[in-house]
Amino acid sequence: MYKGINFTNDYRTLPRSFWSPYEPEECVDPKMVLFNNHLARLLEIDDKALENDTDFFSGNHLPEGVEPLAQAYMGHQFGVPNMLGDGRNVLLGEHNFDDHEKVDFVLKGSGPTKYSRQGDGRAPLDSMLREYIISEYMANVGIKTTRALAVIDTGETLIRQTKVASGVLTRVAESHIRVGTFEYAARLSKEELKALADFAIKRHYPYLSALKDEDKYLMFYEQIVQKQAELIADWQAVGFIHGVMNTDNMSISGETLDYGPCAFLDKYEPDTYFSSIDTNGRYRYKNQPSIGQWNLSKLGETLIPLLAEDSDEAVKKAQEILDKYPFYYQRHYTTIMGNKLGILDLDHEDEYDTELLSDFLGFMYKYQADYTRTFRDFCLTNYHKLPMFEDSEFINWFEKYQARKKAQNAKKDDINIVMNGANPSFIPRNHLVQNALDQAVEGHYGEVKQLLKAVSKPYNDKLGDKYIGAPGEDDINPNFKTYC
Ligand code: AMP
Ligand code: MG
Ligand code: MG
Repeated sequence: MYKGINFTNDYRTLPRSFWSPYEPEECVDPKMVLFNNHLARLLEIDDKALENDTDFFSGNHLPEGVEPLAQAYMGHQFGVPNMLGDGRNVLLGEHNFDDHEKVDFVLKGSGPTKYSRQGDGRAPLDSMLREYIISEYMANVGIKTTRALAVIDTGETLIRQTKVASGVLTRVAESHIRVGTFEYAARLSKEELKALADFAIKRHYPYLSALKDEDKYLMFYEQIVQKQAELIADWQAVGFIHGVMNTDNMSISGETLDYGPCAFLDKYEPDTYFSSIDTNGRYRYKNQPSIGQWNLSKLGETLIPLLAEDSDEAVKKAQEILDKYPFYYQRHYTTIMGNKLGILDLDHEDEYDTELLSDFLGFMYKYQADYTRTFRDFCLTNYHKLPMFEDSEFINWFEKYQARKKAQNAKKDDINIVMNGANPSFIPRNHLVQNALDQAVEGHYGEVKQLLKAVSKPYNDKLGDKYIGAPGEDDINPNFKTYC
């Protein structure tokens, strides 16, 4: 036990092929720049004792018993399979709290590992701050995500496109087992594959343990399919673009993982993408649901040896599960979008209902409306502030909508509560995040702190126009790019 941190080294019980020990590399002059006291208290660790512990959060001096490791994995990067592994992450251990809860503590950017290839094992400070800000936002709007506990400024500079400050993030997660970890395991022996699956089930889906083998692995696959489908539906509903949906960034726990070049939609333009490395827009907003299914097809392929003795039979079973993805996705997506519109029983299998929703999005597209602002205004004022409110086709739509809304079996107060909670007024917009990060790397953290206040109150209408207004012409850079 170290200041309330209660580590076990569970991942070390997996065969040695799945990990390599890591020797921490010293940071010259580490400074704590962000510490998440609120999260620390949720994790039942001693936030006051840890909030200035640069030795721990830089990885410079780890307490006795901490045995960091780097995880081995593969990944389909932009469709192409590659051998990867943690090149700049290290798993410190699994923290045990609240009787049966367990989370991974990972340092990101602490130095090179066995899997670093030509990389330096380090991470730009601004990227680590972006992960902190955006993952906190996701948590506050109820989207499953890894969390950020601390960011250290290492005091060193890195060579990227230019010289940049370097940082170390401490990430807390249910899981760091990725689709890519299974792709890696599938190239080892069947025993090793089974060891990984059993480890993942015991840790993340313990209620499946009692099933007999083939059912167990099939249900495991189905649980992941459902969780990923619902996660991506959550992303679509809030306008989040992950940016690098490679299979090594897809967690089997269904948490949003690896906030590299992620960003949010401003105006409703389904073709939007920002990542500097996504040259063909493979991971653009509108592609995310189908990419999710493609990634899960890769997971299904790895599990074939565990699903049935006969491989044709196993393929058939896996395919049947994968085919449920659109159902899980649509059901969840339509429910949330229904909540956003105040129709609590919007039915994803009903043509009239799905058209009502797609027509609303169609108006947003036609008017190049701000996605977040339009929904919030619709929730607060019905239609008066919407850019399309004088369009006669929209007025027709609105009449149909009102009739449909009235026909549901829900109380007005309940509808209002649900609508309010489904329509954030604030998203961490690109221009706000960029401005805050630019100042932070110069040592000025005022904007980051302000942004984090807004992040903690995403449904507050009193945050001021700077935070909750749609961006002005000057705020939008048509060439805006994000980096890992
Ligand atoms: P990402 O795009 O962050 O998901 O990273 C893809 C792969 O590249 C992962 O295996 C990372 O660990 C590795 N990687 C990214 N940046 C670095 C770096 N600076 N040094 C070593 N490995 C890296
Ligand atoms: Mg990654
Ligand atoms: Mg990354």
